[in-house]
Amino acid sequence: MIQQEQPDLLPVRMLNEYAYCPRLFHLMHVEGRWADNVYTEEGHEVHRRIDRIDHVLPDPEDADATSEDAGQGEPAPTISRSVQLGSETLGISGKLDPVSTVADEAVPVDTKRGRPPDNPERSWEPERVQLMAQGLLLREHGYRSEYGMLYFAAARTRVRVDFTPELEARTLRLIEDARRASTSTILPDPLDDSPKCNGCSLNGICLPDETLALRHVPPNPASAGHAAVRRLYPPRSDALPLYVQEQGASVGKRGEVIVVKKDGEELATVRLKDTSQIVLCGNVQISAQTIQLLCEAGVPVVHLSRGHWFYGVTYGTTLRNAYDRAAQFHFAADPSKTLAFSRAIVAAKAMNQRTMLGRNARPRPESVLKEMAVLMRKIRHAQSLPELLGLEGAIASKYFANLGMLLRPRDMSADWAFDSRNRRPPRDPVNALLSFGYALLTRECTVALIGEGLDPWWGFYHQPRHGRPALALDLMEEFRPIIADSAVITAINTGMVSASDFTVSSAGCILRDTGRKAFIKAYEARLDQLATHPLFDYRASWRVLIRVQARLIARWLRGDVPEYIGITTR
Ligand code: SF4
Repeated sequence: MIQQEQPDLLPVRMLNEYAYCPRLFHLMHVEGRWADNVYTEEGHEVHRRIDRIDHVLPDPEDADATSEDAGQGEPAPTISRSVQLGSETLGISGKLDPVSTVADEAVPVDTKRGRPPDNPERSWEPERVQLMAQGLLLREHGYRSEYGMLYFAAARTRVRVDFTPELEARTLRLIEDARRASTSTILPDPLDDSPKCNGCSLNGICLPDETLALRHVPPNPASAGHAAVRRLYPPRSDALPLYVQEQGASVGKRGEVIVVKKDGEELATVRLKDTSQIVLCGNVQISAQTIQLLCEAGVPVVHLSRGHWFYGVTYGTTLRNAYDRAAQFHFAADPSKTLAFSRAIVAAKAMNQRTMLGRNARPRPESVLKEMAVLMRKIRHAQSLPELLGLEGAIASKYFANLGMLLRPRDMSADWAFDSRNRRPPRDPVNALLSFGYALLTRECTVALIGEGLDPWWGFYHQPRHGRPALALDLMEEFRPIIADSAVITAINTGMVSASDFTVSSAGCILRDTGRKAFIKAYEARLDQLATHPLFDYRASWRVLIRVQARLIARWLRGDVPEYIGITTR
């Protein structure tokens, strides 16, 4: 393990997360991951006020003054809000809100959303530990602090937490462990079948059940080896890409709403939380303030030419997992790992191509399917990347030679004949659509990999070459037939694209603006369709499944799962 420097003071809120789950702590505070769910959004609301104000505590040595002010009888407590305290000795810091003090005695109060749990303590351990840590901070600053209070906002109920020697010892041990974990490069194991994962906002990023299922080889969620994988939630991403294709438009913001304007007229408004990426096509401006907002929120801005040539991506620096990239470069230099990964993605792609033909071509091309199956059996025995490349090419040429059987065009005026791939430039409408579909898919995979902190330009099967997003091309292999090819067939068969959407000349076939817009609709609709993950047996949209697969590549690179398995349709 790499030697680390001494960590900064650990915020007590992070201690709560470490006590809840060390993997959650690592994902949030080491890698900089975040995702909201209904619980965390409620929590933000409760804490929003706290982060806006800063107060100081009365001096504990002013005990006499406090008592005098109170006059006769019990002295009145002083309530101090949002008090920032830190201790080098304890190694922690925290914003306490509120703290009730009477003379030199201080009671921290921590506000929680929801209601107290139905257990003997009427609180969860992470909450008690966080409160105890606040008590320790108060003691360090000269107060006596014997207990704290948890205030549950929904129930308007206070629960007393006594600072027992056992709780103190447990808290000190957790502080030490969490500080050590804050500089660790190792992703802790997920919790096994824990109810905590149900309410964890990072569930879709952590993939606890998926990780454990993949550690049981062969992964089979129905087997007794491991509990069934819980459904991914939400199955569809609420946030969608915002394409700005209107030439001369500008993108700005109003609070947390993205606003697209042209000539003073509002063309579109979308809430930031509903935006997964902003795709700027051609002559479109975006303000610096909007870019800053998007970077902070982890929403990428994709820059394309008007003809959708991919220039690049603007992404914030919220992710800190440089170790994933280090592992990526390390694995890329290992021929056995590169070959194993390449076999997995080529096998998945070939399987999906064969399924496309078998399911949709009529009459069913039995002899072609048999020939493809024979070639596919050789994939797992391929001893080199060139051998694999040869097998992939042979399977692809059989697939493309028969893909035309799936076309039942609504607009018969265009020449939809297709029997093989050609490109740079494509020479017919079907190849023009396929090329465009693959370009869109490359972009989707590039953004997914960047979102995982990986380098999309450094691949395993596709070797790095200047300007080629090699890892994105690796990731998209298994999705080519089931997303891009499928969208092309739908666009042609439903009449979403027609002859007027293409310009055909001796120089090649160009998809016009109208055709691009129409095809993007078909492509995005395909990404939004639900499919069943073959290993985990839950349904999710293709858009979500691309993210899951990108995440599993990162997890394989970190050693969190033993192998990468491509996604296949049944
Ligand atoms: S999903 Fe479960 S294992 Fe993963 S971070 Fe959350 S609580 Fe931990």
